[in-house]
Amino acid sequence: MANYTPMMQQYLKIKAQQKDAFLFFRLGDFYELFFDDATRAAQELEITLTSREGGEDGRIPMCGVPYHSAANYIKNLVEKGYKVAICEQVEDPKEAKGVVRREVVQLVTPGTVMDGVMLDEEENNYLASLTPFDDGTFVIAYNDLTTGENSVAMLTDGFDGVLSELFNRPVKEIVVPTDLDAEYQTSLQERLGVTISKEDRTEITEGYQSLVQNLHQDKLKIGFGRLFYYIQETQKRSMDHLKEVQYIELNQFMKLDMYSKRNLELMETIRKQGKKGSLLWVLDHTVTSMGSRMLKKWVERPLLKRQLIEDRYNQVEGFLEQFFERETLREALQSVYDLERLAGRVSYGNVNARDLIQLKHSIGKIPEIKSILQSFSQPELKELGEQLHPLQDVYQLLDESIYDDPPITIKEGGLIKDGFNNQLDDYRDAARNGKQWIAELERKEREATNIKSLKVGYNRVFGYYIEVTKANLHHLPEGRYERKQTLTNAERYITPDLKEKESLILEAQEKSVELEYDMFIKVREQVKEYIPSLQHLAEQICSIDVLQGFATVSEHNQYARPELVDNRDIYIEQGRHPVVEKVMKEDTFVPNDVNMQDESDILLITGPNMSGKSTYMRQLALTAVMAQIGCFVPCSYARLPIFDQIFTRIGAADDLVSGQSTFMVEMMEAKHALTKATDRSLILLDEIGRGTSTYDGMALAQAIVEYIHGNIGAKTLFSTHYHELTELEKSLNHLTNVHVRAEEYEGKVVFLHQIQKGAADESYGIHVAKLAELPEPLIERANAILKQLEGSSEVNETPLYGHEDDHQLTLFEPKEKPVQVETESKSTREETKVIEQLKDLDLLELNPIEAMNHLYQLQKQL
Ligand code: ADP
Repeated sequence: MANYTPMMQQYLKIKAQQKDAFLFFRLGDFYELFFDDATRAAQELEITLTSREGGEDGRIPMCGVPYHSAANYIKNLVEKGYKVAICEQVEDPKEAKGVVRREVVQLVTPGTVMDGVMLDEEENNYLASLTPFDDGTFVIAYNDLTTGENSVAMLTDGFDGVLSELFNRPVKEIVVPTDLDAEYQTSLQERLGVTISKEDRTEITEGYQSLVQNLHQDKLKIGFGRLFYYIQETQKRSMDHLKEVQYIELNQFMKLDMYSKRNLELMETIRKQGKKGSLLWVLDHTVTSMGSRMLKKWVERPLLKRQLIEDRYNQVEGFLEQFFERETLREALQSVYDLERLAGRVSYGNVNARDLIQLKHSIGKIPEIKSILQSFSQPELKELGEQLHPLQDVYQLLDESIYDDPPITIKEGGLIKDGFNNQLDDYRDAARNGKQWIAELERKEREATNIKSLKVGYNRVFGYYIEVTKANLHHLPEGRYERKQTLTNAERYITPDLKEKESLILEAQEKSVELEYDMFIKVREQVKEYIPSLQHLAEQICSIDVLQGFATVSEHNQYARPELVDNRDIYIEQGRHPVVEKVMKEDTFVPNDVNMQDESDILLITGPNMSGKSTYMRQLALTAVMAQIGCFVPCSYARLPIFDQIFTRIGAADDLVSGQSTFMVEMMEAKHALTKATDRSLILLDEIGRGTSTYDGMALAQAIVEYIHGNIGAKTLFSTHYHELTELEKSLNHLTNVHVRAEEYEGKVVFLHQIQKGAADESYGIHVAKLAELPEPLIERANAILKQLEGSSEVNETPLYGHEDDHQLTLFEPKEKPVQVETESKSTREETKVIEQLKDLDLLELNPIEAMNHLYQLQKQL
């Protein structure tokens, strides 16, 4: 260390405190990076790596970015999940003795960005903290610096619960204790793609006490302490806009585990193609970006309290009834800017005059929005209107102080209106009068000298001057003119009068720019006083926007207001899948009823592949979610209970990240449903058991159905291609068979996508084979085998669960060959293996030679 130059020593000292961040070290007009930081940044940012002497042997790797364009480089790194420590010179280099003092003034991290360019308008940007406790609970605290929102939740269902809670939320960074289980850390990073940061201090410091006063449990405060410490460490400035912490009572909301959120594609599609194709994509008819953010929060947390849901229905209905007023409202809302984030910027101190003008225009719209709301006949909408506070004082302040079209910079004047401040007006008068005098000067000088081409001009370096061409120089009288600058064809002069006026003007201008800046800061501070009111107003506008959006989407797509019932019966007429119907051609989606009374707690759905089974299942779950966020639902009529949780096991999306097999994921998803569901839950199980061998799978599938039937009683949609399971209808009172209809039409199979009572025709596959013109003897043989199989698949009349004698499965015991399964002989095991391998072959990926080779290998195994 001692050998390094003093500046490098300073660098190393600061860097030691910022190990996990790129240190942007200010050197004049550049931020420089050194050592490892430099090598990595050069790669990440594609900038040139150089080096410099630093005192030690060898040169130090270095790269740099210009100060004025640093924002983009920082953004680039932060978007990749890195942190950037910004180290500035904190004393004037002219006054410094030795090396200029430098300090880290801000740590920019994925969860704490404030800069507009780095933010997605329609998405919150959360920083969270995670705190585990010895009793197995976890506390998650959330903060969005851009809006000031703070909230906290306590989870009691293990780390899985943590992942489910965080899944799909726009959390960019999580602050955890240093000793958090390494497995958890990896999980957070890999499954959720968040940046991990460490902070062990957890007490709530003085400045933040008031924010947590309504939290009554120490655990919650500890969670927040950690978060606040981290905010303090990274921001190093006051955070006046932070709102009081809201306790999220998770049991007030429908629970959706991670699998369901993903499988139902609430926020994004499984293949992560973004919002398009998700439920959110269909529902989002908000017109403001804050509304869009609020909608996401609603979709994340469907409600359980009937009254709250009905309130939303009433408001949506009110909006639906008056189309014209709703359109006017939408238009007015369009001119409301992002009040939440504007308020955030005001308090953070990075607001400019244009932001304040946006704020003014937004507030200026409130009286209009208020009166539109009051023109609705629905009482709750009128009330929403009444509750809006127009914040006239702020409007007036901004209207009197700031020009409507101010520059972006706040340090060069042109911001503050005439008449707002006397002193400023005086300076401006002085400057204006001076300029007037100068304009006059040209005329006077021309007259006095008789030089027609004489000009008065101004440039930055020499100030005001009188310019005379060389040809006319002899007309100038001696003495009074002092030469200032010589050009090729002309000379420039000043006079004592001109000099005096010039300094008057410049001084007045300089003072007025300074005063403008002071005035601007003062206005900003005054607006700061109103931040809580602005935030409240923003929230009101957000929900108005979301609700009008619900009305708009309900009208476009002809959704119906659901009737919520206290019993558990589901009755939906002409139900549709909200997303599939939107991506299909006009009116080609086939609506289906759902009828699940007591005797049909479980619907066992059979039908060929691609006939629409999983669409039907998802459509019910999405309908339930929509109903419980307060939106109308895609059907002509619906009577629905309020579900406490939804569980899904749908689709074959491999859990590649965790490296688990499809079947393991399948079983884990099933486990969630089977251990957590209640009779108030909705369970969707699509083709469960498909991931393992036939008998194994079928046995599991039946056992699962029986378990749900006997032990849980949840409303369940269960699709299967194990036709044998349809026999269960006879023994399970609360299970009903339904199937998807398919028909033959002009020699082709047509999927009608219609759900009907009863089991599917099981010879369907053979039927298709026939249509495909497989050899006739083969078809006959298949039919014969089928008959045999049918004879053999008697279903045990008594369910397995709740049965004392928990014996081996005997359900699929065959009566005659070739479907022997009870004790598989070696050869059948081989056969099963071969069949499995055959099934796994992806024919489209094989060329004929490869296919031959595969066949050869398979044959060898028999
Ligand atoms: P399954 O689960 O039976 O294999 P899916 O539910 O995946 O079938 O549906 C297959 C395709 O059939 C879907 O992609 C969709 O295009 C179409 N489909 C499903 N249900 C309907 C419906 N009710 N009306 C029209 N098309 C449908």
